[in-house]
Amino acid sequence: RVVVGTKVDQNHVNWVTAYNMLTGIRFTVSRTNAKMDRDLTDADFDAKHKFSFDMYVLEDFSFAGNELTPSAKYDFKFKDYAPWVFRHLRSIFGLDPADYLVSLTSKYILSELGSPGKSGSFFYFSRDYKYIIKTIHHGEHKFLRKILKNYYDHVQDNPNTLLSQFYGLHRVKIPYGRKIHFVVMNNLFPPHRDIHRTFDLKGSTIGRDFKEEGLEENPRATLKDLNWLRRDQHLEFGPAKKKVFVEQMQRDVKLLQKLHIMDYSMLIGIHDLEKGNEENLRDKTLQVFQPGGEVEDAQPNMLTRTPSKLESARKAKELRQMIKTQKPVPMDQTATKMPDELEGQQKNNYFYVDDGGFRATHEDNTPGEEIYYLGIIDCLTHYNLIKRIEHRWKGLMNEESQISAIPPERYGDRFLKFISSVTKTREAAEREKAEESAH
Ligand code: ATP
Ligand code: CA
Ligand code: CA
Repeated sequence: RVVVGTKVDQNHVNWVTAYNMLTGIRFTVSRTNAKMDRDLTDADFDAKHKFSFDMYVLEDFSFAGNELTPSAKYDFKFKDYAPWVFRHLRSIFGLDPADYLVSLTSKYILSELGSPGKSGSFFYFSRDYKYIIKTIHHGEHKFLRKILKNYYDHVQDNPNTLLSQFYGLHRVKIPYGRKIHFVVMNNLFPPHRDIHRTFDLKGSTIGRDFKEEGLEENPRATLKDLNWLRRDQHLEFGPAKKKVFVEQMQRDVKLLQKLHIMDYSMLIGIHDLEKGNEENLRDKTLQVFQPGGEVEDAQPNMLTRTPSKLESARKAKELRQMIKTQKPVPMDQTATKMPDELEGQQKNNYFYVDDGGFRATHEDNTPGEEIYYLGIIDCLTHYNLIKRIEHRWKGLMNEESQISAIPPERYGDRFLKFISSVTKTREAAEREKAEESAH
């Protein structure tokens, strides 16, 4: 049985942290969204606001919390960074403010992916699987603040950017605890479709191999460059889509090179339309959807002001969708039009229009058999001293161009070259193979 993540309920070690994260997000986002919209100023990019949440003592004091000391279940401090910038970013990315809050409400249980990478970061899915909270290192946090203006400008100029979409940057701290920085970003993968295979590609081959034994038991495993090459896999985009895709990737990578970023990858989830949702990987999603009925929110206060009507409408809708997604979606329902149920999902990004992803095409640009859910992730690693050291020592043993920690300029070029070279239709790949064997 396939399970994505562990449910974070009251017995989970990270329950308090998760609860505080959600409570803080909810409070700060409603606070900013309650104000009239305005243009950004330079100061907005450096802004930070600190809040101290106080635990409830007496029930009678339901309105004891004021703006600076909102009440919550636990004592904790919360910092909100550049709230206006992120408000604008969410709007550029087409998020509905109410939707965002409901998805991240503290009333519901999140799902924790533990720490899938080497970095030690934790990942949490919102209960509806739309958003990911990723804890980040202090260095990454400082770096994101530093490049925020560049990122913002880029996103504004590139509505179809493939870069991770950042919706919020925050910090949470419990008394005597350590400071935990985190970002809220888009989950590239859809809640309503099975992903049959996942790849994380960098364009490097050293150490980029996932041991495939036992893969059957773990269809969610993230495979890497060597697995991709061995399987002779391609991003099957016909000429028209390939052009848009490669050009956008070039613009995105150019920014990453300019900012001396590296170590990022192209995350690709493949949904095979012929298999549909029949493999019933759906279990995992249902788990995430499960509302935590037993977990009651804090007493009525500013944090629970979301209209209850909205909540129940939403819940009903989710239930409907849950029931719907038990059945495979017929093929002709994909790609052409967006069903009502998927509103709130990205419609403005070209790469997320085919049912949340980007559908394969043939040579003649007719639709293909797969939908790709893809984007450039993990793009907050600055080419700093550590990387330079790693580069020096790995360089003693391996051919330099194959190491993942090469300088940002070359990292980007290699990345682009690799991803572009594996972007071709089935027909083109077969033709090339035939030509090769003819020689
Ligand atoms: P490392 O630095 O060791 O690579 P990390 O902790 O920085 O790890 P990421 O590379 O950002 O982690 O992501 C690790 C995995 O988490 C990815 O391979 C992917 O499976 C999943 N993941 C990360 N970001 C997303 C996203 N936006 N949508 C869906 N899945 C994601
Ligand atoms: Ca990574
Ligand atoms: Ca990382």
